[in-house]
Amino acid sequence: MLIIKNLHAGIEDKKILKGINLQVNAGEVHAIMGPNGSGKSSLASVLAGRESYKVTEGEVWLDGKDLLVMSPEDRAREGLFMAFQYPVEIPGVSNINFLKTALSELRKYRNQPELSAKEFLNLTKEKQQLVEFEAKLANRSLNEGFSGGEKKRNEIFQLAMLDPKLALLDETDSGLDIDALRVVAGGINKLRSENNAFVLITHYQRLLEYIVPDHVHVLYDGRIVRSGNKDLALELEEKGYDWLKREYQFSE
Ligand code: ADP
Ligand code: MG
Ligand code: MG
Repeated sequence: MLIIKNLHAGIEDKKILKGINLQVNAGEVHAIMGPNGSGKSSLASVLAGRESYKVTEGEVWLDGKDLLVMSPEDRAREGLFMAFQYPVEIPGVSNINFLKTALSELRKYRNQPELSAKEFLNLTKEKQQLVEFEAKLANRSLNEGFSGGEKKRNEIFQLAMLDPKLALLDETDSGLDIDALRVVAGGINKLRSENNAFVLITHYQRLLEYIVPDHVHVLYDGRIVRSGNKDLALELEEKGYDWLKREYQFSE
C-alpha cells in the first residue's frame, strides 16, 4: 500500500530525513517511535505534501501511484489521511460542513454517487457511535475551542467518516487522559480492516497497550535505526532511547 524508498527531505538547508525505507501493507498497523526531534512529524509532513519540506532524494508510492508528484489534495483523494500533532482550528466552518464537503469531494473522485442528506446524517450517527464522539461537538466550528482530547476524538471521527486507505496519526496519544486514550484507541481498533492501514507516530509506548501494532520502527536522526514487533516498543519503554542513540553513534 505504501512504499517509501530512500527518502531524503529537509527544510531549506537543513537535512531532516536521511534515507527512510518503509513498506506498509494493507491490513497492517505500524508504529513509528523515536526521541523528540528525530523527524517523526517531518515524515508525516512530507507524506502529506507540506510545502516547506523539500524532498531531495527517494520515492514514495501509494497503491502504485507516485505520491510525491501529487498535490496535498490529491493525496487525500487517493486515500491518505493525516492527523497532525497540532490540529488546526478553523473558526466559522462547522465540523459537519467540513466533513460534508470533504466526503462529497471524495465520492466524486471515486465515482460514487453523492449521499442524500438523510444518508449523510445516518452515516454521521453511525460513525459518531462507533468512535464515541459526542454529537454536540460535530456541529461546532472545526476544532475551535476544543480541548486536546476533543480534537483527537474529532480526528478519529473524521477518520471514520472519510474511510481512508492509509491513515497516519502523529502523536494522537499526546496530552490524552486515559479515558480519551481508550476511546481513541478503541475507535482505531474498530476502524482497522484488511483494506486499510495505519501508521501511528508516537513517542510513548502507552498507546500501543491499546492498539497492538504489527511492526514497530524507531526513527532516530532522520533514519529508521531499528524495526521489530510490539516487543520493541516494550523494550524502548523499559530502556528509553539512549541505548539506541549510543549504538547508532557508535556505528556511524
Ligand atoms: P519529531 O516529530 O520526531 O519530534 P520533527 O520532525 O518535529 O521531529 O523535527 C525533526 C527535526 O527537524 C528537528 O531537528 C527540528 O528542529 C527540525 N525542524 C522541524 N521543523 C522545522 C522548521 N520549520 N525549520 C527548521 N527545522 C525544523
Ligand atoms: Mg516532537
Ligand atoms: Mg513530532
